[in-house]
Amino acid sequence: VRTGVKVAEARKIVLEWAAVPLPAETVAAQQALGRVLAEPVRSSRTLPPADCSAMDGFALRAADLTGVSPGAPRRLKVAFEVRPGGPSPPPLPAGQAARIFTGAPLPPGADSVVRQEEARALPEAVELQSVPELGAHVRRAGEDVRAGDVVLERGVGLGPAELGMLASLGRSVVRVHRRPRVALLSSGDELVEPDADASGGRIVGSNVYALAAQCREAGAEPLNLGIARDTPEELEERIRAGLGADLLVSSAGVSVGDHDHVRPVLEKLGCRLLFWGVRMKPGYPLAFGRFEREGGPLVFGLPGNPVSAMVTFELFVRPLLLRLAGWRACFRPLLPAVLGEPLRKKPGRQHFVRVRLERRGERWVAHSTGSQSSGVLRSMVLADGLLAFGEDETELAAGAPVSVLLLDSRVLAREDSGS
Ligand code: AMP
Ligand code: MG
Repeated sequence: VRTGVKVAEARKIVLEWAAVPLPAETVAAQQALGRVLAEPVRSSRTLPPADCSAMDGFALRAADLTGVSPGAPRRLKVAFEVRPGGPSPPPLPAGQAARIFTGAPLPPGADSVVRQEEARALPEAVELQSVPELGAHVRRAGEDVRAGDVVLERGVGLGPAELGMLASLGRSVVRVHRRPRVALLSSGDELVEPDADASGGRIVGSNVYALAAQCREAGAEPLNLGIARDTPEELEERIRAGLGADLLVSSAGVSVGDHDHVRPVLEKLGCRLLFWGVRMKPGYPLAFGRFEREGGPLVFGLPGNPVSAMVTFELFVRPLLLRLAGWRACFRPLLPAVLGEPLRKKPGRQHFVRVRLERRGERWVAHSTGSQSSGVLRSMVLADGLLAFGEDETELAAGAPVSVLLLDSRVLAREDSGS
């Protein structure tokens, strides 16, 4: 097993296991928000199905108004009225107009629509003062979709517009990649549930709550395996319950301490570690492996410290989950910013500094959230992003250009601080 790997290398190894997304399943189209299409969607419909009016007004032949001007208006007889959803209109008699409403089909023969604001309605007739452009205010049949078009390609992520389109096409079900199922294991004799007595050296096993939320945000389905005591027997029982998942994520215990039984239990059950230890801070004691037998899960042993668990999830687990679900773009956006106050560190590990982002005019200024201890979960609560401080770098001056991994792009809407 490789140890002390670089962040980029570790990420590459992880993503090799998501070269192929999870298999497809059929789901109700309106339940498919955030899923990725596993098939191209071809339309059997033409939309709009016929030429129709984009305005309330009068349908006519533009040529019937040749020579018309405000000084020389022309009256056309109004032959009939066409409403959306009404019966299909008969052909428009020569030299006449039809009253028409938005969305109604153009009568055969009509080629243009004059808006009602630009016409003077008279009993049974309409007076017009200008020549419309040929095709004015007409939505052409098929201008949105033509029958036979591939409207949504395989690999497209389904957002609100796509769900609207599927509905327009009359698609009630759709083939999408399955959501990754993630079994989450907590372990440690000190851990209790949030509503339990947390005195006498006990602490709440909070990681599963943060990690389950991170899974959901990434479109995956978390399964809580509960808290295992630090005994091989109990760990084995809990881990076995997670072997049907796509991914098994343990927080804490995959290290080298005397009471860390996760790794030997995983190995006993058939898991091969691919790396242990990544040259980063927070989060050095990160392990990644896989069950070699068919259908066995991929395995992450995340560090136990709450910040380390969340940061390593961000950098390694989230991209893997997105790829498994069929997304190609799996990384958070990187925002160019300038550093507010100087930072120093020792070389040898890449740091991910939790920062708050301040907008100053066109620039973003990154400020440390304070203590960067991996036990200080407040540093994540306050963070807008993670500032990447390079492995070999030791100093970043105030004002230095930096790159911030954005944890929530809504930050970009933040108001200018004005200073
Ligand atoms: P370990 O990896 O077991 O050495 O744990 C490192 C630190 O993380 C210890 O302070 C643990 O108490 C803490 N820790 C481990 N698991 C969790 C968890 N599920 N939730 C919150 N803190 C944890
Ligand atoms: Mg522990």
